[in-house]
Amino acid sequence: MSEAMIPKPAPFRLLGLPVDGLTMKEFLELIEGHLAQERKEQLPESGSSSPPGLCHIVTINPEIAWLAQSNQLMEQAIQQAHLIVPDGIGVVLAARLKGGKVPQRVAGFDLMQEMLKLAADQSYTVFFLGAAPGIAEAAAATAVENNPGLQVVGTNHGYFKAEEEEGVIQKIAALKVDMLFCALGNPRPAETWIFNHKQELQAGVAMGVGGSFDVMAGKVLRAPLWMQKIGLEWLYRVWREPKRIRRLAAIPKFMWKVFISQ
Ligand code: UDP
Repeated sequence: MSEAMIPKPAPFRLLGLPVDGLTMKEFLELIEGHLAQERKEQLPESGSSSPPGLCHIVTINPEIAWLAQSNQLMEQAIQQAHLIVPDGIGVVLAARLKGGKVPQRVAGFDLMQEMLKLAADQSYTVFFLGAAPGIAEAAAATAVENNPGLQVVGTNHGYFKAEEEEGVIQKIAALKVDMLFCALGNPRPAETWIFNHKQELQAGVAMGVGGSFDVMAGKVLRAPLWMQKIGLEWLYRVWREPKRIRRLAAIPKFMWKVFISQ
């Protein structure tokens, strides 16, 4: 499979990592364009033997940007991703501090919802991989309820064992889905998992969506809109799940490193 080429402006660099300063609308246009291209090349008359390749969407926040400073695989996954979405308010502020033009925070959850709308409108197939058993199915049911006609062609939980991984990859690849959403976490973050398997997954686009399935399944509440708007979604998540507090340490470390960087 060839490498996806996404026609976009050069990304802004933050501690050497790319961040795309695009709006929600612009991200969606690029995703739509890539999927349309993929669809065109699958037509028998296109004469094309190789589809355009998987478009890997990474949603970047201070936590993974900080991890990438010491974890080479995470660093590579972000460097080689095709779209790097400014999902964390910390990333947006840090980029602006350094003079980057990042017009808005684009929350991964919201981008996923817009992509589901697009999938229902254009008959693109989707697969939900990740979260605890039963959650991907419940999230898929919500997605279909919100987007009548949406084709969720498969689901799988995200707690598969190492020896089951190949089977999961084969299950996804056999369906040749247009959109693959991955709610995976430690020790198998979606960013590096997609990066490691992008040649095998046979998907049009693949995106890590963190805890989005849990929210869609009604297991976890999202922050109220006013908190999202003033950039405090992270605080709400810590309040609801205090065990996340350890992760917050990455935010000041990341911000400080950005501040002192050239
Ligand atoms: N998750 C998963 N498999 C794992 C670990 C996590 O499917 O081995 C799911 C988890 O249930 C949640 C999502 O990944 O729906 C994101 O989890 P979280 O934000 O807690 O990420 P983590 O801290 O695990 O990296």
